[in-house]
Amino acid sequence: NRKYLLSQRPDGTPNRETFELVEEDVPEPGAGEALVRTLYLSVDPYMRGRMRDAESYAEPWDVGDPLQAAVVGEVVESNGAGFEVGQLVAGNLEWADYATASGSALQPVNPDHAPISTALGVLGMPGRTAYFGTREVAEPKAGDTFVVSGAAGAVGSVAGQIAKQSGARVVGFAGSDEKVEFLEDECGFDVGINYKDTDDYGAALDSAAPDGVDVYFDNVGGEITDAVFSKLNVDARVAVCGQIALYNEESVPMGPRKLGKLIESRAQVQGFLVSDFSPRFEQATRQLAKWVSTGELAYRETVTEGLENAPDAFLGLFEGENIGKQLVKVGER
Ligand code: NDP
Repeated sequence: NRKYLLSQRPDGTPNRETFELVEEDVPEPGAGEALVRTLYLSVDPYMRGRMRDAESYAEPWDVGDPLQAAVVGEVVESNGAGFEVGQLVAGNLEWADYATASGSALQPVNPDHAPISTALGVLGMPGRTAYFGTREVAEPKAGDTFVVSGAAGAVGSVAGQIAKQSGARVVGFAGSDEKVEFLEDECGFDVGINYKDTDDYGAALDSAAPDGVDVYFDNVGGEITDAVFSKLNVDARVAVCGQIALYNEESVPMGPRKLGKLIESRAQVQGFLVSDFSPRFEQATRQLAKWVSTGELAYRETVTEGLENAPDAFLGLFEGENIGKQLVKVGER
């Protein structure tokens, strides 16, 4: 059984040295546990926070700890876990070919509803983040201009589409022309801005959002967020979901730097965690699955093959190598 450990804490941007692949015997499930064979593994930006020795909402990993991720896999052994052998499940498991978990920490995955990989993306944690973050925190209304950063990623692409349903004009920041095409042609965004193609984000916003910004769904922070804050309208709302542009900074520059704009705009800024909404996860997943099945909600996945390449898939998040949800395919069904 191959599994990844945190080999050392990254100083700034993580690299291959951050990860160590070790081999061990396939673990035995203890009482109430299942042995799960990994099919898909999710790499997520928040994992960067777990590599740091600092208090956060997700517990830090120690050096030498196995890395963990949301996984979809197949139960290959059950020791009273409440699952049948062969059943598909999702849970927070190790970055490994096989891992054990308590039955109570696993959720069934129904392969008849949608491809099983979607349990980690559009129908999983990122989809739910977009769902609650847009509808209950950002709250776009008809006629609003809604701007989302990290727009072509797992959360951003879904957030923009949900905002579009409410009748808003939707503008997304993303890091390539291919991503802009995905936003405009498949996700129904009004305008995508390739921020890597301009050094004047303010000017790009003036043309994409000529009436200013009523709602901002922030996935990235940094200079894109500075530019958007400068364009906030009166009574604007900002949902702070993520700050990926800052996750690899060892010392974050002081900020936010555009708070003066909040005085004039009387804007409200609200951070949130998807776990705040956990009692209603099932409702969100049902709704997202319905939109996917009717074709109302487009989604993409970028799939890296092989557990051995999971570190590259993770590192690629910070280079913008993914469109939609970044996954690692570890095993065949
Ligand atoms: P994505 O699928 O969006 O992947 C990350 C994307 O971020 C990359 O593809 C890249 O796209 C963009 N990016 C990377 N570095 C930078 C940078 N320096 N400046 C601007 N953009 C950058 O990830 P997720 O959808 O999983 O997560 C999106 C955000 O939401 C993250 O910040 C994450 O931490 C946060 N999050 C928060 C949750 C919550 O509960 N609050 C839950 C889930 C996620 P590009 O090519 O456009 O640069």
